[in-house]
Amino acid sequence: MAISSAFLVASYQVRITEAIGSRDANELFLNVIIQFFLIFIFVLIVATFAAFIISRNISRPLRVLTEAARIIGEGNLNISIKISRKDEIGTLGEFFNNMVIKIKDAQERQKEISRLKSEFITVAAHQLRTPLSIVKWAYRSVLDGDFGPVSDAQKDILGKANIANESMINLVHNLLDAARIEEGRFGYVFVRLDFINFLKSLLEEKKIVAEKKKVRLLSGNTIHGEVWLNADKERLSIAIGNIVDNAIRYTVAGGSVELNISQEDAWVTLSIRDTGIGIAPEDKDRLFTKFYRGSNVMHMETEGTGLGLFISRNIIKSHGGEIWCDSEQSKGTTFFIKLP
Ligand code: ATP
Ligand code: MG
Repeated sequence: MAISSAFLVASYQVRITEAIGSRDANELFLNVIIQFFLIFIFVLIVATFAAFIISRNISRPLRVLTEAARIIGEGNLNISIKISRKDEIGTLGEFFNNMVIKIKDAQERQKEISRLKSEFITVAAHQLRTPLSIVKWAYRSVLDGDFGPVSDAQKDILGKANIANESMINLVHNLLDAARIEEGRFGYVFVRLDFINFLKSLLEEKKIVAEKKKVRLLSGNTIHGEVWLNADKERLSIAIGNIVDNAIRYTVAGGSVELNISQEDAWVTLSIRDTGIGIAPEDKDRLFTKFYRGSNVMHMETEGTGLGLFISRNIIKSHGGEIWCDSEQSKGTTFFIKLP
């Protein structure tokens, strides 16, 4: 502004000098420039102040909205913002609050659906348990010859039916366990546990399954030393049992499964390594979710609910531990269970 005023004055300089003489003209030019400069400073101050007020009016509600969005992002929906204005920002605040109410409603509905689903599964599984146990008892009695001699052909067909029934019983158990986990009713009784002896018994139990599948089950270094844990023996047996079962199940005949432990500080890590079919990289992230089964196991092993790893991870987490795996397709998989 000062520069343009100087130009303006300069353009009239000759005519003004002629009219009022050079000394008065110089004084006049100086006065004009100083006045323009003062006006410029005043306008600058007013503009800065106005910009500050406007920006405060916009940025404060924006800060409130950003903070509210952050809190919602953390999963807390018990929030309502107060912007008592009638302009666009006030409308935005109103929309924001309505949106939070709608998300909350949807979440409550989802929770209720989930609860009903879980309740339905629990009731259905409970109802199935008794008849399946009776069928199991009936098969066993006939197979054991309690009702007279059984021919080889009869044994064969009854044996297959018995295996199918066993897998139904397993499914019912898994469904009940998964429902209990989700409802927070999967109770634990922690005791001091001799981990080495625990693994010995587990291996003994799983050897029968491995032999049937012609997979070598190796105890690695787990037969040495002494490791004590604070654990629920029955639950931990389900968790580690599932991983060993998987390793045997997803390894073809002639392969092997080996258990090893390593200790570091107050942690023990159990590794279960198999020479099986491996896990596709795209399946890895979803393995521990309910009912998920890898794309490559469908042709190999049709039986399975996809609940084993979900249950195992929950049990390991309840023990303060972690579970993860490394795998290479067609080469093998190693599951790691780290426990305090
Ligand atoms: P079930 O609930 O009867 O155990 P499942 O074995 O299919 O059925 P999970 O134990 O949860 O279910 O395992 C999920 C999936 O993870 C399996 O279907 C399989 O694709 C993959 N998986 C788990 N362990 C292994 C392994 N050792 N080698 C290859 N794939 C594995
Ligand atoms: Mg399994």
